Amino acid sequence: MDHAIALSKAGEIAERVLAPAARQNDRDGSFSTEAVGALGQAGFFGLTLPTEFGGLGLGPRTFAAVTATLAEADASVAMVYLMHICAAATIAAARPGAAVAPMLSQIATGGHLSTLAFSESGSRSHFWAPVSRARRDRAGVRITAKKPWVTSAGYAQSYVVSSLAPEGAGPTDSTLYLVPADVRGLSIEGSWDGLGLRANASAPMMLDDCEIPYGLQLTDDGAGFQAMLKVVLPQFNLGAAAVALGLCRAAVAATAAHLKSARFEHLGQSLGESLPTLGAQLAMMQIDTDGLSARVDDLVSHLERPRETTLLRVLETKAAAGD
Ligand SMILES: Cc1cc2nc3c(=O)[nH]c(=O)nc-3n(C[C@H](O)[C@H](O)[C@H](O)COP(=O)(O)OP(=O)(O)OC[C@H]3O[C@@H](n4cnc5c(N)ncnc54)[C@H](O)[C@@H]3O)c2cc1C
Repeated sequence: MDHAIALSKAGEIAERVLAPAARQNDRDGSFSTEAVGALGQAGFFGLTLPTEFGGLGLGPRTFAAVTATLAEADASVAMVYLMHICAAATIAAARPGAAVAPMLSQIATGGHLSTLAFSESGSRSHFWAPVSRARRDRAGVRITAKKPWVTSAGYAQSYVVSSLAPEGAGPTDSTLYLVPADVRGLSIEGSWDGLGLRANASAPMMLDDCEIPYGLQLTDDGAGFQAMLKVVLPQFNLGAAAVALGLCRAAVAATAAHLKSARFEHLGQSLGESLPTLGAQLAMMQIDTDGLSARVDDLVSHLERPRETTLLRVLETKAAAGD
């Protein structure tokens, strides 16, 4: 699969599977196992995984374009996908000797959805500073942690979990672990009832003395923060900006359709025909959306050819996209 084929397949899945169910899933807060199944089957779980792990080896340009296309139809599914791609990249970047080959091959063949479980109740938006601390055990570590927002909670096959290293001295001396969904002590504590993006199961998760074998430690002790900055942050910010871009495109299209179809019957005119001010506002929406698209392209080019300004672009693009 190359960039063009990936984009055309993503568009087909978005139209056939995501769009028809998006409104109802959002209303009900229902996680779309159909969408996830279709994306996995079509090879999208391994989109950015290196080919040596069975992935498609495609880069940030394709990831951003695919994610925006999915978000245009259903932003919840796009969030699920973005968190999976971030987790898959972290697993693929595991330290030598980590026993992650089976998971990578399941990801590449579409049978394994993963996600990130970084944020903790104790440190809230400071996701880089977990307050839980792994405890050394004979076979690896034991983790007790409260993760209040985990996208795809209860639906993923694994979670990339952060916790302070057993002997870590500072608040960012964390380690990342790959936690299988069926590990003893892991539970989903309730459901996700958000104002928007309601269909991505971003529910609270509890790890209660979960035993994680040495082979599932993804980073060296205390090296979790570096992995968050180098592996996760660029992909997360790019993906989050792409989700925002898809949402903006959908909002522009829906607004244009409304201005054309809603009518002042007594004037025989549509809203758009009758009120030029609305047309001007729609134009501003289009201009802002195209501006965001240019920012996303610029970030992609920075990630393809990293340079001095790359980290700044990683941060700026997500901030601008959020607005
Ligand atoms: C739908 C959804 C899905 C999520 N999925 C995941 C996931 O899969 N994995 C995961 O690990 N996390 C996930 N998160 C958690 C997310 O990354 C944040 O940690 C979380 O939203 C923080 O929210 P809070 O209300 O605790 O923020 P708080 O920390 O209470 O912050 C409240 C506000 O203050 C601002 N603020 C905080 N500190 C400062 C400061 N120093 N200066 C200025 N402003 C500041 C924040 O930006 C925010 O606007 C998800 C969150 C949501 C909403």
